[in-house]
Amino acid sequence: MGLNDNILTYRPMSRTLTTAYVRNERQLCIGDSVTARETGRITLAELCTRIGGRIHTCNFGNNGGNSALVELGANWIHGTHGNAVFSLATEKNLLDPFVILDRMMGHAYTEDGKKVDKSLTEKVWKLFREVEMALDDIEPESIDATAELGQYMEDISEKRLQEFPPNQHEDIRGLFNCMMNYLSFHFGADLDKVSLKYVGCFRELDGKNVKLPKGFRSVVDAIAQNLPSDAIHLNTKVEKINYSYTQTNTVKITCQTPSGKSVFEANHVIFTCSLGVLESSHSDMFEPTLPPSKVNSIEAMGFGTVDKIFLKWETPFWKIGEGSLKLAWKGKRTTNRKTEWYRSLFGFDEIQNNDNTLVGWIHGEAAEHLETLTDRDVMDQCVLLIRQFLGDPSIPAPTEILRSAWKSNELTRGSYSFLAPSSAPSDIARLAEPVSVGGVPVLLFAGEATHPCFFSTTHGARESGIREAKRLEDYYITKRDVQN
Ligand SMILES: Cc1cc2nc3c(=O)[nH]c(=O)nc-3n(C[C@H](O)[C@H](O)[C@H](O)COP(=O)(O)OP(=O)(O)OC[C@H]3O[C@@H](n4cnc5c(N)ncnc54)[C@H](O)[C@@H]3O)c2cc1C
Repeated sequence: MGLNDNILTYRPMSRTLTTAYVRNERQLCIGDSVTARETGRITLAELCTRIGGRIHTCNFGNNGGNSALVELGANWIHGTHGNAVFSLATEKNLLDPFVILDRMMGHAYTEDGKKVDKSLTEKVWKLFREVEMALDDIEPESIDATAELGQYMEDISEKRLQEFPPNQHEDIRGLFNCMMNYLSFHFGADLDKVSLKYVGCFRELDGKNVKLPKGFRSVVDAIAQNLPSDAIHLNTKVEKINYSYTQTNTVKITCQTPSGKSVFEANHVIFTCSLGVLESSHSDMFEPTLPPSKVNSIEAMGFGTVDKIFLKWETPFWKIGEGSLKLAWKGKRTTNRKTEWYRSLFGFDEIQNNDNTLVGWIHGEAAEHLETLTDRDVMDQCVLLIRQFLGDPSIPAPTEILRSAWKSNELTRGSYSFLAPSSAPSDIARLAEPVSVGGVPVLLFAGEATHPCFFSTTHGARESGIREAKRLEDYYITKRDVQN
């Protein structure tokens, strides 16, 4: 297949399936309402053996005697108002039962095995959220381009600490450290790598954080149902995209497929690989090379890492509903993120409908280092921490571990994008710009990193796919109007 495809979408899923569905040059269908019959001329090349990309639901753990689900990648639909993934999930009836995130579940503990008073934790959490929300109001004009978020958060936390009596300061510093680790998940990076000037560019949607009871993959499956099965080419690695567009007026895409090398031709390519993949492979992948302004933006933007560690016990050592523990390290935050990687762990959370599994969360440089360690090392260190913080040396060792390694994964090279101090919103815009040849948009870019305010999310990814589909639709409508 491929020679007369109108579009080759470079890699499908999470939302790329919302990209353009072209029947012929005059008739375009967009979005997932399109039927399988109508989508005959799209090809999706996916290097992996599954669809979904950074949406990766796995079986692990126990749900009332049955196998349970965990998410190695995306976990929550962030916000219910104006969220393109939430509306899709609602339309497809994927949200029954309706499960919302309880950020406050469980308790915070310090490293000397002390449980922090819950009402203090709640108070500090509220205060931290206020500070976090106020980040949206930062006026970029008043901030230096090189300023980073970490120092700002440390300064402001220290100031707000003075609102509490001195005898609570030690615990509160611990809680702040824990919450800084939590905030780092928004970026997948240590906060000193994040731009302060443009931190308000990311827009948080109103409404709750909602979980997909049958796993995030249910959204991917729902979208995939709209495509003919032969549109999706798994195990197909795009190696070269030649968009010089001469002679045949097509883009030539060289792929490594299970049966050998194959060259697809397409009128348009929508490239949806992660920013991490783009950064590591753009110089070899595109012919001609990408415009220098795009390359500069790719290199300036940040691409962080968040990893999850799932630990399974024969039987839970915790009381269900009380198992989540947040790690409130007292004292200064560590700067040695390799040898003290475990200090970047936010905590271990229970998972709904999973009786015997806890999930640990880690970000940034520590997560990247963690990926170099063995399962045994990680499991041993995690149980040591759990025993230490809960003050209970009798807690048994977990029996199994499952963990993500998004940084070392050649399909992603990290978890999601953020604006680093070296970058600006104009870099996102430049990344999203199509490359045109002779007025034809031949190379289009979608994916979470191309969304101006929902970058790093599944809804940003989905919206970006719809945007590029619309771009092609507009192109063909204009062309038709001119011809008529
Ligand atoms: C740990 C983690 C937690 C997250 N939590 C949330 C969350 O709670 N809520 C939320 O909204 N978002 C979350 N996200 C972010 C969300 O998962 C992503 O923003 C979104 O899935 C990105 O979709 P995408 O289509 O842009 O890219 P991807 O899903 O990365 O798709 C890119 C695809 O390109 C393929 N590919 C790469 N190279 C090649 C090649 N050479 N040839 C062919 N195919 C190739 C890859 O296999 C992949 O399938 C999380 C991500 C991670 C990693």
